[in-house]
Formats: sequence, C-alpha cells, structure tokens
Amino acid sequence: MIQTDKRNAIMRVAETIDCQVRRVRVNAVEAMRAHELAEITIDLMPGETLCPFCLGTNLRKVDVRFTTHGPEVSGFPFSYEWFTTCGQCEFGRMKVCKHCDHTVSKGSLCQCKGAIAERQEIEVAKEADRLAKMRHISPAEYAHEKVYVNEEYRVLGDVISEAEDGEDVGLVLACELTEPALCPDADDVIERIEDRAYEECDDGHIVSFGAGAKEALQAVLDKWFAEHCTVNELYYPTNVIIDISPAKTEEEEAQ
Ligand SMILES: [Zn+2]
Ligand SMILES: [Zn+2]
Repeated sequence: MIQTDKRNAIMRVAETIDCQVRRVRVNAVEAMRAHELAEITIDLMPGETLCPFCLGTNLRKVDVRFTTHGPEVSGFPFSYEWFTTCGQCEFGRMKVCKHCDHTVSKGSLCQCKGAIAERQEIEVAKEADRLAKMRHISPAEYAHEKVYVNEEYRVLGDVISEAEDGEDVGLVLACELTEPALCPDADDVIERIEDRAYEECDDGHIVSFGAGAKEALQAVLDKWFAEHCTVNELYYPTNVIIDISPAKTEEEEAQ
C-alpha cells in the first residue's frame, strides 16, 4: 500500500459536487510511478510490434457517465473512470502482417490480398491432404443405396449414370448407415413413475416395483415399437471415396 502523504499527492479532491458526492482526480502517471509501473520492458518477437492503441501498456481508460437522481438534477452526470485491459492486443504486443505490414488486432485476421491468399492456400493444401489420406473403393464394393455427393445424399446408380453421360459428378463419398435407437427405455418410464410419485407425496415410497418389472416392461415396449413404429435409416458420409469411372471415350465404346 502507498503511504498516506504520497496517496494524498496523487489523489486530490477536485470538487464537491453534491452534498454527498466527492469527485476525486487521480494523477494516473504518479500512481503508476508510485507502484513502480512507470516503465515496463517488453521483448518483441519477430513479426510483433507494440500495440498502437495502448502503446504497450495493455491499458485502456473506461469512462462511464451516469446519474443517480434522474436527468432532472441540473443534468449533472456522475463519473466512474478506470483502467482496463486494452483488448486490441496481446498484453501490449500486436502481430504485424508479413504481407502488408499493418498491425493485426487480437483475434482477427488481416484482410489484405496477400494474407487472404495465404490462408486460402493453406485451406486448399489441408483439403488436398485430407483427400489424399482417404481410402478408395469401387462402386461394386459399396453395399448401400445412397452416397454423399456435393452435400447431398443421392442414389449411387444415378450418380454412375451421370458420370457415364460425361458429367463431372465430383467427389463421391461412401456413407455409413445407422438406425437411431428410438425405442423407449423401461428405466426411463419407471423413473418417470417414481418422479410423479415424489410430486404426489414427499416420501416417495408410495410406489414400488416387483422383481422383473423392468424386464417385463422392456419386452412390452420392444414389441410395441417393432410392430407400430417405422424408423428411417440415417446416412452419414464417411472418409471413403467411391471411384466412379468417367465416361468412356468413343474409342473405348467401339472396343
Ligand atoms: Zn494494446
Ligand atoms: Zn496484411
């Protein structure tokens, strides 16, 4: 803590502006000095510069004007001011774009042509790498009806016909089929009955289930579900490419 006489030199009561409110002005530079914060050392790594907003201090002033009595009190707004973190930089440091030399705020990306092109290149390379690592199968090795093409689920036969007609069908991905487990669970039903028992009566012992109750209920539920519910199969694309042969050339057709 800073000694009282020093404190008084830094903070002075500037005005008394209401019978209860004292406005204090703080000499922030002296306050920093008192805390031995007047100078800080920052090592800038290659590609970094001092933040042009806070000049490396990582500080930003916030001011809030408000009134406690409503606007009618001679329009006087009270004031709270304080320092908070800069928000534009990484603790006073900011990255410099290697393409255009502009500073890039924390959490954002430079929008200059060079930076955009570099990011696109990286994306393209990543995608190419992802595709290169995928397994390939032939249509004959694929067991299901539908495939994933251009963000759509399509019948494999249609895609093959299109390719035979000379169209570029794009990347054809094999799918996995899953059937969502939608049959009600006996445990859930029993829990629901117990919950309702608690709602009716605090001690909750008004209901009990005999041996085999859960299994018997599950058997009923399974049977009912099998007889009365239809669940469509769900397709999910996988990381397996189905190689569709392109259209035959006239020469090949002739053979
Ligand atoms: Zn800053
Ligand atoms: Zn740039």
